[in-house]
Parts: sequence; structure tokens; C-alpha cells
Amino acid sequence: MAVAIRTERLAREYKGVSALGGVDVEVQEGEWVAVMGPSGSGKSTLLNVVAGLDRPTGGRVEVLGRDLGALDGARLAEFRRDHVGIVFQQFHLIPYLTALENVMLAQYFHSMTDEAEAKGMLDGVGLGDRAHHLPSQLSGGEQQRVCIARALVNHPRLLLADEPTGNLDERNERLVMDLFRELHRKGHTLVLVTHDLDIGKLAQRRVLLNHGAVVEPHMVFESIERYSDEVLEMLWKAGQDGDKSLHHVLSEIQGITPEMVSRMQELGLLEIRGDNLLFQERGKTHAREVVRRHRLAEKLFTDVFEVSREEMKAGACQFEHILSAEMTDSICSFLKHPATCPHGNPIPTGKCCSRGGAGPLPVGGAR
Ligand code: ADP
Repeated sequence: MAVAIRTERLAREYKGVSALGGVDVEVQEGEWVAVMGPSGSGKSTLLNVVAGLDRPTGGRVEVLGRDLGALDGARLAEFRRDHVGIVFQQFHLIPYLTALENVMLAQYFHSMTDEAEAKGMLDGVGLGDRAHHLPSQLSGGEQQRVCIARALVNHPRLLLADEPTGNLDERNERLVMDLFRELHRKGHTLVLVTHDLDIGKLAQRRVLLNHGAVVEPHMVFESIERYSDEVLEMLWKAGQDGDKSLHHVLSEIQGITPEMVSRMQELGLLEIRGDNLLFQERGKTHAREVVRRHRLAEKLFTDVFEVSREEMKAGACQFEHILSAEMTDSICSFLKHPATCPHGNPIPTGKCCSRGGAGPLPVGGAR
């Protein structure tokens, strides 16, 4: 398989600030890679340099067999236009042009406009009936889908996206990620910057940055993935704010290290305040899902499969880890939306439940 992106000792310095300090990354054609890491770790800088939007101050970057350092400004712009599609967190749509015209503008800069093809691209992202709407008449998710159509209209081999779901709600996030999944299936090379673990998990591989350097994923990501559910569930059980002492978490969860907890803070899941761990908003949402999955799995195993409490304790409820969000809702419906788990603890409601609707949930307290 051909190499789509290769960086060698890639460095970018901004007036004494080192954003990238010698990064070696390789992405194969057709691969889907997530670039992850805490805020300020150099993710956007890496993406911008690979996109040819920014120049490195050291090292080398090769994209689709071209050494970008060897291209002058005009050639670089030409290369980007012909081979790279870019999607940003901010949509950068021209406000006084319709969705269709925004897509056609990209064609115009590339070669010639072709209305039928641009319209076909909007159809492809499910927006055929919104072609003549202005960006202000579209929701955030719809605007981002216009951006994806715009990025794709010139048939780029490489698609780069910087936090493409950062401004979207859950439903639109899913729609946009479905589009990326489809593009990957069709053979596009995808590099997607995200700080969101769930989005990162969808990629085939994750490159983790920290302070402008690549760090070993197994040291951080895999272990966070393994432990974060446990920590969040523990915080959920502790109450509304997820207040729990760091000391308690470190002594109760075998194998977890202070470094992993501080990484969970950087990922926006929890906050370390003195010796206390508190939820950040994202952590609380995630905890709620974990607890819901766990308690529904317990209910399923005891009520339907008649697994005894002892057996369940011995590990049967580990099955919760393979339940997807959709499957969790199906199980909830199948069990007729139970209010409590076999231990009598409240099961947080989901989209499928009519009880309680989207209202506030009982958080923690009851164990
Ligand atoms: P991330 O995308 O991971 O949040 P960035 O690539 O945006 O990180 O930034 C990495 C570092 O480089 C940060 O310390 C940031 O402040 C710095 N940086 C990025 N762009 C500039 C710029 N144009 N001028 C000065 N410093 C910058």
C-alpha cells in the first residue's frame, strides 16, 4: 500500500513556542487515522502543515508522494486544491451564498463549475432539498455537511478534518461521523483531529500527541479507555458533582495511575481539584451512559438469562462493554424501560424512554 503522508522530524515553532518538536508520522493510503491529544498538543498545527496551509520550521513533510517543502506558494495552493479536502470545526461558509453556491465556489477555484455535480454532492450528504438555503437557514449539522460536500467536490484523495464535530449536537455528530465512515469505506484516506475518545475510537488507528511530540498510544489511550469507564462510574455513584477523592480512586481501582487520571482531566472528563475528582460536563454525560449500560446489562442477565448475582459479580456483566448505544436502547425497550437495576439503583433514561423524557436525572446518590 502506498504512503499517503510521511513526516520526518517535523517541527513548527511560533516565535519561541514549539508547537511540533520533531514529529514522525506515517499514514497509508486508504487509512483512517485519528490525531488525538490534549488541547495545545499540536494537533491542528500538524494538520495545517500536512494540508499545506502552514509551513514547517524544521523537518520534512511528504503528502501523496510530493515533498511539500519543495513547492512554492502557488504550487502548494494548486496541490491542495487538487488533492486535499479540508473540513474545519468552524464551517467557513460564505454567508451570502447558498449551500449549492458554496460547493460550486470550490469547483470554481479548482477548474470549472458544474452545478449538477455540486448538487449531487449535496444529495450525497443528505442535503439535496437544502441546496438553495443560505448558511444562516441551516442548522450547525447541516452546515458541516455542506462543508463536507465542498471538501469532496473536487474528488480529493486525502480528506483532513479538524474537530469536525466540535460544534455539533449528538445527532448531527452521528450523521457527520456516518459520512466519514462511508468515505473511508469508499477508499478515501482520512486524518481526523479530535480530542473526543468516542470519535477517536472510530478510526483504525490513533496517533497521540503531547507537547508537540508523538507518544505511545498504548501508554495513554488504551489504558484510559480501559479505566475511564470505571472511574466515571465510581464518580457517578458518589453524587451530583462526581465528588470523590483521588486517593480513594487510586486505591480502589487496580492498575490505574495518577498520570491516567490527569489525562482524563485533559480529555475533559473530570477535574482534579486538590485531592478531589469532579465531573466535567462531558465526563458526566459519559458516566451516565456507562451507568445506564451497566445497569441495563445487569437487568438483562438477571431477568432474562437468569444469571445469579454471584455469577454476575464474577464477570458476566462485563458484557456491558460490547453494548453499542443503539443496542443499549434496544435492550432498554425489550426490558420495557426498567426504572431500577436488580440492586434497586436507578437506571438513567435514554432516548428510547418516555419516562422522565429528557428531564433531569437522578444522579448518583443511590448506589
Ligand atoms: P491543538 O490543536 O492540539 O490544540 P495547536 O496545534 O493549536 O494545538 O497549538 C499547539 C501550540 O502551538 C500551542 O501552544 C499554541 O498556543 C501554539 N500555537 C499554535 N498556533 C500558533 C500561532 N499562530 N502563533 C503562536 N502560537 C501558536
